[in-house]
Amino acid sequence: MAQQNEAFKKLVSHCKEYGFIYQSSEIYDGLAAVYDYAPYGVLLKNNLKQYWWKSMVQLHENIVGIDASILMHPKTWKASGHVDAFNDPLIDNKDSKKRYRVDHLIEGYCEKIEAKINKDVAKAKKKFGEEFDEAQFRATNGRILDRQKRIDDIMARLAKVMSDGDMEGMAAMIEELEIKDPETGSANWTEPRQFNLMFSTQLGSVAGGDGKLYLRPETAQGIFVNFSNVQKTTRQKVPFGIAQIGKAFRNEIVARQFIFRMREFEQMEMQFFVKPGTEMEWYEKWKETRLNWHKALGHPAEKLRFHDHANLAHYANAAVDIEFQFPFGFRELEGIHSRTDFDLTEHQALSGKKLQYFDPELNENYVPYVVETSIGCDRMFLATMSHALMDETVPDADGKDSTRTVLKLPAPLAPIKCAVLPLLKNKEALTSKARAIFNDLKFAFDCQYDEKDAIGRRYRRQDAIGTPFCVTVDFDTLEDNTVTLRDRDTLKQERIPVDKVEQIVRERVDMRNLFA
Ligand code: ATP
Repeated sequence: MAQQNEAFKKLVSHCKEYGFIYQSSEIYDGLAAVYDYAPYGVLLKNNLKQYWWKSMVQLHENIVGIDASILMHPKTWKASGHVDAFNDPLIDNKDSKKRYRVDHLIEGYCEKIEAKINKDVAKAKKKFGEEFDEAQFRATNGRILDRQKRIDDIMARLAKVMSDGDMEGMAAMIEELEIKDPETGSANWTEPRQFNLMFSTQLGSVAGGDGKLYLRPETAQGIFVNFSNVQKTTRQKVPFGIAQIGKAFRNEIVARQFIFRMREFEQMEMQFFVKPGTEMEWYEKWKETRLNWHKALGHPAEKLRFHDHANLAHYANAAVDIEFQFPFGFRELEGIHSRTDFDLTEHQALSGKKLQYFDPELNENYVPYVVETSIGCDRMFLATMSHALMDETVPDADGKDSTRTVLKLPAPLAPIKCAVLPLLKNKEALTSKARAIFNDLKFAFDCQYDEKDAIGRRYRRQDAIGTPFCVTVDFDTLEDNTVTLRDRDTLKQERIPVDKVEQIVRERVDMRNLFA
Protein backbone atom coordinates (compact mmCIF):
# COMPACT_ATOMS: atom_id res chain seq x y z
CA MET A 1 0.00 0.00 0.00
CA ALA A 2 2.80 2.40 0.98
CA GLN A 3 4.46 1.70 -2.35
CA GLN A 4 1.21 2.43 -4.19
CA ASN A 5 0.85 5.72 -2.38
CA GLU A 6 4.39 6.62 -3.33
CA ALA A 7 3.58 5.90 -6.99
CA PHE A 8 0.50 8.09 -6.76
CA LYS A 9 2.39 10.96 -5.11
CA LYS A 10 4.99 10.75 -7.83
CA LEU A 11 2.31 10.86 -10.49
CA VAL A 12 0.69 13.96 -8.97
CA SER A 13 3.97 15.81 -8.72
CA HIS A 14 5.00 14.75 -12.23
CA CYS A 15 1.74 16.20 -13.57
CA LYS A 16 2.55 19.55 -12.00
CA GLU A 17 6.28 19.66 -12.63
CA TYR A 18 6.08 18.70 -16.29
CA GLY A 19 3.07 20.84 -17.21
CA PHE A 20 0.16 18.39 -17.32
CA ILE A 21 -2.12 19.52 -14.49
CA TYR A 22 -2.21 22.50 -12.13
CA GLN A 23 -4.41 23.12 -9.16
CA SER A 24 -7.10 25.65 -10.08
CA SER A 25 -6.51 29.22 -8.84
CA GLU A 26 -3.30 28.09 -7.20
CA ILE A 27 -2.19 31.63 -6.35
CA TYR A 28 -5.21 31.78 -4.01
CA ASP A 29 -4.29 28.39 -2.52
CA GLY A 30 -6.53 26.56 -4.94
CA LEU A 31 -10.16 25.51 -5.00
CA ALA A 32 -10.89 22.05 -3.64
CA ALA A 33 -11.27 19.34 -6.27
CA VAL A 34 -11.00 21.72 -9.22
CA TYR A 35 -8.03 21.42 -11.57
CA ASP A 36 -6.65 23.07 -14.70
CA TYR A 37 -5.07 21.25 -17.61
CA ALA A 38 -1.61 22.61 -18.34
CA PRO A 39 0.03 22.86 -21.80
CA TYR A 40 0.94 19.17 -22.22
CA GLY A 41 -2.11 18.02 -20.29
CA VAL A 42 -4.52 19.75 -22.63
CA LEU A 43 -2.86 18.14 -25.64
CA LEU A 44 -3.08 14.68 -24.10
CA LYS A 45 -6.66 15.26 -23.03
CA ASN A 46 -7.63 16.45 -26.51
CA ASN A 47 -6.04 13.34 -28.00
CA LEU A 48 -7.99 11.11 -25.61
CA LYS A 49 -11.18 12.89 -26.60
CA GLN A 50 -10.33 12.43 -30.26
CA TYR A 51 -9.62 8.74 -29.76
CA TRP A 52 -13.05 8.37 -28.15
CA TRP A 53 -14.87 10.57 -30.64
CA LYS A 54 -13.38 8.90 -33.70
CA SER A 55 -14.03 5.42 -32.40
CA MET A 56 -17.63 6.32 -31.59
CA VAL A 57 -18.75 8.80 -34.26
CA GLN A 58 -16.34 8.49 -37.17
CA LEU A 59 -16.23 4.70 -37.15
CA HIS A 60 -19.96 4.09 -36.63
CA GLU A 61 -22.34 5.09 -39.40
CA ASN A 62 -25.17 4.87 -36.88
CA ILE A 63 -23.70 7.13 -34.20
CA VAL A 64 -23.82 10.92 -34.53
CA GLY A 65 -22.49 13.60 -32.22
CA ILE A 66 -23.91 16.71 -30.60
CA ASP A 67 -22.67 19.42 -28.27
CA ALA A 68 -25.51 20.44 -25.97
CA SER A 69 -25.32 23.33 -23.55
CA ILE A 70 -24.42 23.03 -19.89
CA LEU A 71 -27.47 24.98 -18.76
CA MET A 72 -30.78 23.30 -19.47
CA HIS A 73 -34.42 23.93 -18.68
CA PRO A 74 -34.83 23.17 -14.96
CA LYS A 75 -37.64 20.68 -15.67
CA THR A 76 -34.99 18.47 -17.28
CA TRP A 77 -33.64 17.63 -13.84
CA LYS A 78 -37.06 17.05 -12.37
CA ALA A 79 -37.86 14.56 -15.14
CA SER A 80 -34.49 12.82 -14.92
CA GLY A 81 -34.91 12.29 -11.18
CA HIS A 82 -31.86 14.35 -10.26
CA VAL A 83 -33.79 16.92 -8.20
CA ASP A 84 -35.31 14.22 -6.02
CA ALA A 85 -32.76 11.46 -6.08
CA PHE A 86 -29.27 12.65 -7.01
CA ASN A 87 -28.11 12.47 -3.43
CA ASP A 88 -25.18 11.05 -1.57
CA PRO A 89 -25.49 10.12 2.10
CA LEU A 90 -23.02 12.14 4.13
CA ILE A 91 -21.93 11.93 7.74
CA ASP A 92 -19.75 14.24 9.84
CA ASN A 93 -17.35 13.30 12.55
CA LYS A 94 -18.00 15.61 15.50
CA ASP A 95 -14.43 15.46 16.79
CA SER A 96 -12.40 15.78 13.61
CA LYS A 97 -15.06 17.88 11.79
CA LYS A 98 -14.34 15.76 8.72
CA ARG A 99 -17.14 14.85 6.35
CA TYR A 100 -17.48 11.45 4.70
CA ARG A 101 -19.80 9.54 2.41
CA VAL A 102 -21.47 6.76 4.38
CA ASP A 103 -21.15 4.28 1.51
CA HIS A 104 -17.43 5.05 1.18
CA LEU A 105 -16.86 4.41 4.90
CA ILE A 106 -18.62 1.05 4.71
CA GLU A 107 -16.83 0.11 1.50
CA GLY A 108 -13.55 1.04 3.19
CA TYR A 109 -14.42 -1.35 6.01
CA CYS A 110 -14.91 -4.15 3.48
CA GLU A 111 -11.67 -3.27 1.70
CA LYS A 112 -9.85 -3.92 4.97
CA ILE A 113 -11.38 -7.40 5.16
CA GLU A 114 -10.42 -7.97 1.55
CA ALA A 115 -6.85 -6.93 2.33
CA LYS A 116 -6.75 -9.65 5.00
CA ILE A 117 -7.94 -12.20 2.44
CA ASN A 118 -5.27 -11.09 0.00
CA LYS A 119 -2.64 -11.38 2.72
CA ASP A 120 -3.65 -14.99 3.40
CA VAL A 121 -3.54 -15.74 -0.31
CA ALA A 122 -0.08 -14.20 -0.65
CA LYS A 123 1.18 -16.22 2.33
CA ALA A 124 -0.15 -19.47 0.90
CA LYS A 125 1.32 -18.65 -2.51
CA LYS A 126 4.72 -18.21 -0.91
CA LYS A 127 4.38 -21.44 1.04
CA PHE A 128 3.21 -23.70 -1.79
CA GLY A 129 5.13 -22.07 -4.65
CA GLU A 130 4.52 -23.36 -8.20
CA GLU A 131 1.88 -25.87 -7.14
CA PHE A 132 -0.40 -23.20 -5.69
CA ASP A 133 -3.88 -23.04 -7.16
CA GLU A 134 -5.24 -19.65 -6.09
CA ALA A 135 -8.80 -20.18 -7.32
CA GLN A 136 -9.08 -23.46 -5.44
CA PHE A 137 -7.57 -21.96 -2.30
CA ARG A 138 -10.06 -19.10 -2.34
CA ALA A 139 -12.93 -21.51 -2.94
CA THR A 140 -12.06 -23.92 -0.12
CA ASN A 141 -10.16 -22.14 2.67
CA GLY A 142 -12.54 -21.77 5.61
CA ARG A 143 -11.23 -18.47 6.91
CA ILE A 144 -11.33 -16.89 3.47
CA LEU A 145 -14.84 -18.14 2.84
CA ASP A 146 -16.04 -16.67 6.16
CA ARG A 147 -14.46 -13.33 5.40
CA GLN A 148 -15.81 -13.25 1.87
CA LYS A 149 -19.30 -14.03 3.16
CA ARG A 150 -18.99 -11.18 5.62
CA ILE A 151 -18.07 -8.78 2.80
CA ASP A 152 -20.93 -10.03 0.64
CA ASP A 153 -23.45 -9.66 3.49
CA ILE A 154 -22.31 -6.13 4.32
CA MET A 155 -22.34 -5.02 0.66
CA ALA A 156 -25.81 -6.49 0.10
CA ARG A 157 -27.11 -4.68 3.17
CA LEU A 158 -25.45 -1.46 2.02
CA ALA A 159 -27.03 -1.80 -1.43
CA LYS A 160 -30.44 -2.15 0.19
CA VAL A 161 -30.16 0.83 2.55
CA MET A 162 -28.74 2.95 -0.27
CA SER A 163 -31.49 2.16 -2.74
CA ASP A 164 -34.16 2.64 -0.06
CA GLY A 165 -32.56 5.92 1.06
CA ASP A 166 -32.79 4.39 4.55
CA MET A 167 -30.82 6.83 6.72
CA GLU A 168 -31.55 4.95 9.96
CA GLY A 169 -30.32 1.75 8.37
CA MET A 170 -27.08 3.50 7.39
CA ALA A 171 -26.62 4.88 10.89
CA ALA A 172 -27.16 1.38 12.29
CA MET A 173 -24.49 -0.06 10.00
CA ILE A 174 -21.96 2.59 11.02
CA GLU A 175 -22.64 1.79 14.66
CA GLU A 176 -22.73 -2.00 14.41
CA LEU A 177 -19.56 -2.20 12.33
CA GLU A 178 -17.94 0.21 14.79
CA ILE A 179 -16.67 2.32 11.92
CA LYS A 180 -14.21 5.00 12.94
CA ASP A 181 -12.99 8.17 11.29
CA PRO A 182 -10.18 6.80 9.05
CA GLU A 183 -7.97 9.77 9.91
CA THR A 184 -8.46 10.14 13.65
CA GLY A 185 -10.08 6.92 14.88
CA SER A 186 -12.99 8.80 16.46
CA ALA A 187 -16.44 7.16 16.41
CA ASN A 188 -18.31 10.32 17.42
CA TRP A 189 -20.60 10.67 14.37
CA THR A 190 -23.56 12.86 13.46
CA GLU A 191 -26.66 11.22 11.97
CA PRO A 192 -26.21 10.53 8.25
CA ARG A 193 -28.19 12.80 5.92
CA GLN A 194 -28.84 13.14 2.20
CA PHE A 195 -27.02 15.79 0.22
CA ASN A 196 -27.99 16.78 -3.34
CA LEU A 197 -24.96 16.92 -5.61
CA MET A 198 -26.21 19.45 -8.14
CA PHE A 199 -24.76 22.95 -8.26
CA SER A 200 -27.45 25.55 -8.68
CA THR A 201 -27.29 28.98 -10.23
CA GLN A 202 -29.67 31.78 -11.20
CA LEU A 203 -31.05 32.76 -14.57
CA GLY A 204 -30.63 36.43 -15.58
CA SER A 205 -33.12 38.82 -14.02
CA VAL A 206 -35.54 36.23 -12.67
CA ALA A 207 -35.36 36.23 -8.90
CA GLY A 208 -36.39 33.42 -6.56
CA GLY A 209 -37.26 29.81 -7.32
CA ASP A 210 -38.43 30.49 -10.89
CA GLY A 211 -35.00 31.40 -12.15
CA LYS A 212 -33.19 28.55 -10.46
CA LEU A 213 -31.03 26.55 -12.85
CA TYR A 214 -28.59 23.71 -12.39
CA LEU A 215 -25.19 23.09 -13.88
CA ARG A 216 -25.71 19.72 -15.56
CA PRO A 217 -24.52 16.81 -13.41
CA GLU A 218 -24.28 14.55 -16.48
CA THR A 219 -24.20 15.21 -20.20
CA ALA A 220 -26.71 12.46 -21.01
CA GLN A 221 -29.82 14.61 -20.52
CA GLY A 222 -28.71 16.96 -23.33
CA ILE A 223 -28.89 13.90 -25.57
CA PHE A 224 -32.30 12.71 -24.36
CA VAL A 225 -34.03 16.05 -24.83
CA ASN A 226 -32.60 16.24 -28.37
CA PHE A 227 -33.58 12.68 -29.29
CA SER A 228 -36.35 13.57 -31.73
CA ASN A 229 -34.48 16.49 -33.29
CA VAL A 230 -31.44 14.35 -33.98
CA GLN A 231 -33.38 11.35 -35.22
CA LYS A 232 -35.40 13.44 -37.66
CA THR A 233 -32.63 15.67 -38.96
CA THR A 234 -30.15 12.83 -39.48
CA ARG A 235 -32.78 10.25 -40.57
CA GLN A 236 -31.21 7.64 -38.31
CA LYS A 237 -33.02 4.36 -37.80
CA VAL A 238 -33.11 2.53 -34.47
CA PRO A 239 -30.67 1.15 -33.40
CA PHE A 240 -28.59 4.32 -33.44
CA GLY A 241 -26.54 6.36 -31.00
CA ILE A 242 -25.88 9.97 -30.04
CA ALA A 243 -22.48 10.84 -28.61
CA GLN A 244 -21.33 13.87 -26.70
CA ILE A 245 -18.27 15.17 -24.87
CA GLY A 246 -18.74 17.92 -22.35
CA LYS A 247 -18.41 19.32 -18.88
CA ALA A 248 -20.46 18.06 -15.96
CA PHE A 249 -20.60 19.39 -12.40
CA ARG A 250 -21.15 17.60 -9.11
CA ASN A 251 -20.79 19.06 -5.66
CA GLU A 252 -18.95 15.96 -4.42
CA ILE A 253 -18.95 15.64 -0.64
CA VAL A 254 -15.52 14.17 -0.41
CA ALA A 255 -13.36 15.08 -3.33
CA ARG A 256 -10.00 13.43 -3.01
CA GLN A 257 -7.58 11.51 -5.14
CA PHE A 258 -6.56 14.31 -7.46
CA ILE A 259 -8.51 14.36 -10.73
CA PHE A 260 -10.28 11.08 -9.93
CA ARG A 261 -13.15 12.87 -8.20
CA MET A 262 -13.58 16.49 -9.24
CA ARG A 263 -16.38 18.99 -8.83
CA GLU A 264 -16.06 20.11 -12.46
CA PHE A 265 -15.14 17.35 -14.87
CA GLU A 266 -15.67 16.16 -18.39
CA GLN A 267 -17.71 13.22 -19.59
CA MET A 268 -17.72 11.31 -22.86
CA GLU A 269 -21.15 9.75 -23.13
CA MET A 270 -23.00 7.85 -25.79
CA GLN A 271 -26.68 6.93 -25.61
CA PHE A 272 -27.61 4.05 -27.89
CA PHE A 273 -31.33 3.86 -28.73
CA VAL A 274 -32.64 0.35 -29.33
CA LYS A 275 -35.85 -1.55 -29.85
CA PRO A 276 -37.44 -2.52 -26.50
CA GLY A 277 -36.54 -6.09 -25.67
CA THR A 278 -33.19 -5.98 -27.47
CA GLU A 279 -31.43 -3.90 -24.82
CA MET A 280 -29.60 -6.76 -23.07
CA GLU A 281 -28.07 -7.87 -26.37
CA TRP A 282 -26.78 -4.34 -26.97
CA TYR A 283 -25.68 -4.00 -23.37
CA GLU A 284 -23.45 -7.07 -23.79
CA LYS A 285 -22.15 -5.78 -27.10
CA TRP A 286 -21.23 -2.39 -25.71
CA LYS A 287 -19.55 -3.95 -22.68
CA GLU A 288 -17.25 -5.87 -24.98
CA THR A 289 -16.68 -2.98 -27.40
CA ARG A 290 -15.76 -0.59 -24.62
CA LEU A 291 -13.40 -3.02 -22.90
CA ASN A 292 -11.60 -3.53 -26.22
CA TRP A 293 -11.28 0.22 -26.62
CA HIS A 294 -9.36 0.34 -23.33
CA LYS A 295 -7.25 -2.67 -24.17
CA ALA A 296 -6.21 -1.11 -27.49
CA LEU A 297 -4.28 1.46 -25.46
CA GLY A 298 -2.04 -1.30 -24.21
CA HIS A 299 -3.56 -1.61 -20.74
CA PRO A 300 -2.96 -5.20 -19.65
CA ALA A 301 -6.05 -7.31 -19.01
CA GLU A 302 -5.29 -7.60 -15.29
CA LYS A 303 -5.56 -3.82 -14.83
CA LEU A 304 -9.15 -3.78 -16.12
CA ARG A 305 -12.17 -5.58 -14.77
CA PHE A 306 -15.95 -5.50 -14.88
CA HIS A 307 -17.84 -4.79 -11.70
CA ASP A 308 -21.59 -5.36 -11.78
CA HIS A 309 -23.67 -2.86 -9.80
CA ALA A 310 -25.46 -4.40 -6.86
CA ASN A 311 -27.18 -1.10 -6.24
CA LEU A 312 -28.96 -0.07 -9.46
CA ALA A 313 -29.73 3.60 -10.11
CA HIS A 314 -33.40 4.52 -10.35
CA TYR A 315 -33.32 4.42 -14.15
CA ALA A 316 -31.38 1.22 -14.84
CA ASN A 317 -32.21 -2.47 -15.33
CA ALA A 318 -28.55 -3.48 -15.64
CA ALA A 319 -25.32 -1.64 -14.96
CA VAL A 320 -21.65 -2.47 -14.89
CA ASP A 321 -18.49 -0.48 -14.27
CA ILE A 322 -15.26 -0.94 -16.11
CA GLU A 323 -12.80 -0.60 -13.26
CA PHE A 324 -9.15 0.28 -13.69
CA GLN A 325 -6.37 -0.45 -11.28
CA PHE A 326 -5.36 3.08 -10.29
CA PRO A 327 -2.39 3.51 -7.94
CA PHE A 328 -4.93 3.60 -5.07
CA GLY A 329 -6.74 0.41 -6.15
CA PHE A 330 -9.46 -0.71 -8.55
CA ARG A 331 -11.98 2.09 -9.14
CA GLU A 332 -14.69 2.98 -11.66
CA LEU A 333 -13.39 4.36 -14.92
CA GLU A 334 -16.46 3.94 -17.10
CA GLY A 335 -20.08 2.96 -16.57
CA ILE A 336 -22.24 0.99 -18.98
CA HIS A 337 -25.90 1.25 -18.13
CA SER A 338 -29.06 -0.17 -19.55
CA ARG A 339 -31.30 2.84 -18.82
CA THR A 340 -34.56 1.33 -20.13
CA ASP A 341 -37.02 3.90 -21.52
CA PHE A 342 -36.97 5.78 -18.22
CA ASP A 343 -35.51 9.11 -19.38
CA LEU A 344 -37.42 9.48 -22.65
CA THR A 345 -40.69 8.47 -20.97
CA GLU A 346 -40.22 10.94 -18.12
CA HIS A 347 -39.32 13.81 -20.48
CA GLN A 348 -42.30 12.93 -22.61
CA ALA A 349 -44.60 13.07 -19.61
CA LEU A 350 -43.27 16.34 -18.21
CA SER A 351 -42.86 18.20 -21.52
CA GLY A 352 -46.01 16.87 -23.19
CA LYS A 353 -43.94 16.34 -26.37
CA LYS A 354 -43.71 12.93 -28.03
CA LEU A 355 -40.28 11.32 -27.82
CA GLN A 356 -40.99 8.24 -29.88
CA TYR A 357 -39.72 6.45 -32.90
CA PHE A 358 -41.80 5.21 -35.78
CA ASP A 359 -40.43 1.80 -36.67
CA PRO A 360 -41.12 1.27 -40.38
CA GLU A 361 -40.56 -2.48 -40.10
CA LEU A 362 -43.05 -2.96 -37.29
CA ASN A 363 -45.26 -0.15 -38.56
CA GLU A 364 -45.63 1.19 -35.00
CA ASN A 365 -44.41 3.90 -32.65
CA TYR A 366 -42.46 3.17 -29.51
CA VAL A 367 -40.22 4.86 -26.95
CA PRO A 368 -36.78 3.32 -27.56
CA TYR A 369 -34.74 1.71 -24.80
CA VAL A 370 -31.30 3.09 -24.11
CA VAL A 371 -27.90 1.56 -23.48
CA GLU A 372 -25.43 4.16 -22.28
CA THR A 373 -21.65 4.18 -22.18
CA SER A 374 -20.30 6.90 -19.92
CA ILE A 375 -16.66 7.58 -19.26
CA GLY A 376 -14.98 10.40 -17.38
CA CYS A 377 -12.36 12.03 -19.55
CA ASP A 378 -10.35 13.04 -16.49
CA ARG A 379 -10.37 9.54 -15.04
CA MET A 380 -9.25 8.26 -18.42
CA PHE A 381 -6.44 10.81 -18.32
CA LEU A 382 -5.43 9.62 -14.85
CA ALA A 383 -5.55 5.96 -15.89
CA THR A 384 -3.47 6.64 -18.99
CA MET A 385 -0.88 8.66 -17.10
CA SER A 386 -0.62 6.20 -14.24
CA HIS A 387 -0.03 3.30 -16.59
CA ALA A 388 2.47 5.21 -18.70
CA LEU A 389 4.68 6.80 -16.03
CA MET A 390 7.66 4.72 -14.95
CA ASP A 391 11.29 4.81 -13.89
CA GLU A 392 13.62 2.70 -15.97
CA THR A 393 17.29 1.78 -15.97
CA VAL A 394 18.83 2.45 -19.35
CA PRO A 395 22.41 2.86 -20.62
CA ASP A 396 23.55 6.50 -20.77
CA ALA A 397 25.81 8.02 -23.45
CA ASP A 398 28.88 6.31 -21.92
CA GLY A 399 27.12 2.97 -21.75
CA LYS A 400 26.72 3.13 -17.94
CA ASP A 401 23.41 2.36 -16.23
CA SER A 402 21.30 5.38 -15.44
CA THR A 403 17.71 5.89 -14.35
CA ARG A 404 15.26 7.76 -16.50
CA THR A 405 11.67 8.80 -15.85
CA VAL A 406 9.65 8.07 -18.95
CA LEU A 407 6.03 8.45 -19.92
CA LYS A 408 5.29 5.55 -22.25
CA LEU A 409 2.09 6.94 -23.70
CA PRO A 410 0.70 5.28 -26.81
CA ALA A 411 2.32 7.35 -29.59
CA PRO A 412 -1.00 8.58 -31.07
CA LEU A 413 -1.94 10.10 -27.70
CA ALA A 414 1.37 11.78 -26.92
CA PRO A 415 1.14 15.57 -26.46
CA ILE A 416 4.24 16.18 -28.57
CA LYS A 417 4.79 13.71 -31.37
CA CYS A 418 8.27 14.70 -32.38
CA ALA A 419 11.03 16.92 -30.98
CA VAL A 420 13.61 18.44 -33.27
CA LEU A 421 17.00 18.88 -31.63
CA PRO A 422 20.17 20.39 -33.10
CA LEU A 423 23.15 18.55 -31.63
CA LEU A 424 24.77 21.83 -30.52
CA LYS A 425 23.22 25.16 -29.71
CA ASN A 426 25.99 27.45 -30.86
CA LYS A 427 26.49 26.08 -34.37
CA GLU A 428 24.36 28.21 -36.63
CA ALA A 429 24.44 25.70 -39.46
CA LEU A 430 22.90 23.06 -37.17
CA THR A 431 20.30 25.27 -35.53
CA SER A 432 19.07 26.79 -38.77
CA LYS A 433 18.77 23.36 -40.38
CA ALA A 434 16.91 22.04 -37.32
CA ARG A 435 14.59 25.08 -37.32
CA ALA A 436 13.83 24.53 -40.99
CA ILE A 437 12.89 20.90 -40.31
CA PHE A 438 10.76 21.95 -37.33
CA ASN A 439 9.00 24.69 -39.31
CA ASP A 440 8.03 22.12 -41.88
CA LEU A 441 6.95 19.35 -39.47
CA LYS A 442 4.81 21.61 -37.31
CA PHE A 443 2.16 21.66 -40.02
CA ALA A 444 1.82 17.88 -39.74
CA PHE A 445 1.65 17.35 -35.96
CA ASP A 446 2.53 18.82 -32.57
CA CYS A 447 6.30 19.25 -32.55
CA GLN A 448 8.81 20.94 -30.35
CA TYR A 449 12.14 22.60 -31.10
CA ASP A 450 14.69 22.44 -28.28
CA GLU A 451 18.33 23.50 -28.32
CA LYS A 452 18.98 24.15 -24.62
CA ASP A 453 21.27 21.84 -22.58
CA ALA A 454 23.22 18.74 -23.54
CA ILE A 455 21.51 16.37 -25.92
CA GLY A 456 21.14 13.67 -23.23
CA ARG A 457 19.22 16.04 -20.97
CA ARG A 458 16.99 17.09 -23.82
CA TYR A 459 16.17 13.43 -24.54
CA ARG A 460 15.27 12.96 -20.86
CA ARG A 461 12.99 16.00 -20.94
CA GLN A 462 11.15 14.58 -23.95
CA ASP A 463 10.95 11.15 -22.25
CA ALA A 464 9.29 12.78 -19.24
CA ILE A 465 6.53 14.32 -21.36
CA GLY A 466 6.10 11.17 -23.43
CA THR A 467 7.43 12.36 -26.82
CA PRO A 468 7.73 9.17 -28.89
CA PHE A 469 10.29 10.50 -31.41
CA CYS A 470 13.27 12.82 -31.35
CA VAL A 471 14.94 13.98 -34.53
CA THR A 472 18.56 15.00 -34.03
CA VAL A 473 20.35 17.24 -36.49
CA ASP A 474 24.14 16.68 -36.46
CA PHE A 475 27.11 17.41 -38.69
CA ASP A 476 26.31 14.48 -40.99
CA THR A 477 22.95 16.11 -41.66
CA LEU A 478 24.75 19.01 -43.28
CA GLU A 479 26.63 16.59 -45.54
CA ASP A 480 24.02 14.02 -46.53
CA ASN A 481 20.66 15.50 -45.47
CA THR A 482 19.91 12.67 -43.03
CA VAL A 483 18.97 12.84 -39.36
CA THR A 484 18.74 10.35 -36.51
CA LEU A 485 15.29 9.36 -35.37
CA ARG A 486 15.32 8.21 -31.73
CA ASP A 487 12.56 5.95 -30.46
CA ARG A 488 11.48 6.76 -26.88
CA ASP A 489 10.80 3.15 -25.90
CA THR A 490 13.49 1.12 -27.64
CA LEU A 491 16.07 3.96 -27.60
CA LYS A 492 17.06 2.80 -31.08
CA GLN A 493 18.40 5.50 -33.38
CA GLU A 494 17.75 5.15 -37.09
CA ARG A 495 19.43 7.24 -39.74
CA ILE A 496 16.79 8.50 -42.15
CA PRO A 497 16.61 11.10 -44.94
CA VAL A 498 15.16 14.45 -43.83
CA ASP A 499 12.43 14.25 -46.45
CA LYS A 500 11.20 10.93 -45.00
CA VAL A 501 10.78 12.19 -41.39
CA GLU A 502 7.23 13.40 -41.77
CA GLN A 503 5.98 10.25 -43.44
CA ILE A 504 7.69 7.88 -40.97
CA VAL A 505 6.54 9.75 -37.88
CA ARG A 506 3.07 10.23 -39.29
CA GLU A 507 2.64 6.50 -39.84
CA ARG A 508 3.77 5.68 -36.31
CA VAL A 509 1.63 8.25 -34.51
CA ASP A 510 -1.48 7.60 -36.59
CA MET A 511 -4.56 6.92 -34.47
CA ARG A 512 -5.41 4.12 -36.89
CA ASN A 513 -2.77 2.05 -35.11
CA LEU A 514 -5.05 2.05 -32.07
CA PHE A 515 -8.14 1.12 -34.06
CA ALA A 516 -6.31 -1.73 -35.77
P1 ATP B 1 -18.64 7.33 -8.58
O1 ATP B 1 -19.37 6.08 -8.10
O2 ATP B 1 -17.15 7.15 -8.67
O3 ATP B 1 -19.07 8.58 -7.88
P2 ATP B 1 -20.63 7.50 -10.58
O4 ATP B 1 -21.12 6.08 -10.61
O5 ATP B 1 -21.43 8.52 -9.86
O6 ATP B 1 -19.10 7.53 -10.09
P3 ATP B 1 -21.49 8.02 -13.24
O7 ATP B 1 -22.63 8.84 -12.82
O8 ATP B 1 -21.73 6.64 -13.77
O9 ATP B 1 -20.40 7.96 -12.06
O10 ATP B 1 -20.64 8.87 -14.28
C1 ATP B 1 -20.01 8.30 -15.41
C2 ATP B 1 -18.52 8.53 -15.39
O11 ATP B 1 -18.21 9.90 -15.12
C3 ATP B 1 -17.79 7.75 -14.30
O12 ATP B 1 -17.50 6.45 -14.72
C4 ATP B 1 -16.55 8.57 -14.11
O13 ATP B 1 -15.54 8.20 -15.04
C5 ATP B 1 -16.99 9.98 -14.40
N1 ATP B 1 -17.19 10.74 -13.16
C6 ATP B 1 -18.27 10.73 -12.35
N2 ATP B 1 -18.11 11.56 -11.32
C7 ATP B 1 -16.89 12.13 -11.47
C8 ATP B 1 -16.15 13.09 -10.74
N3 ATP B 1 -16.64 13.66 -9.64
N4 ATP B 1 -14.92 13.45 -11.19
C9 ATP B 1 -14.41 12.89 -12.31
N5 ATP B 1 -15.07 11.98 -13.05
C10 ATP B 1 -16.30 11.61 -12.65
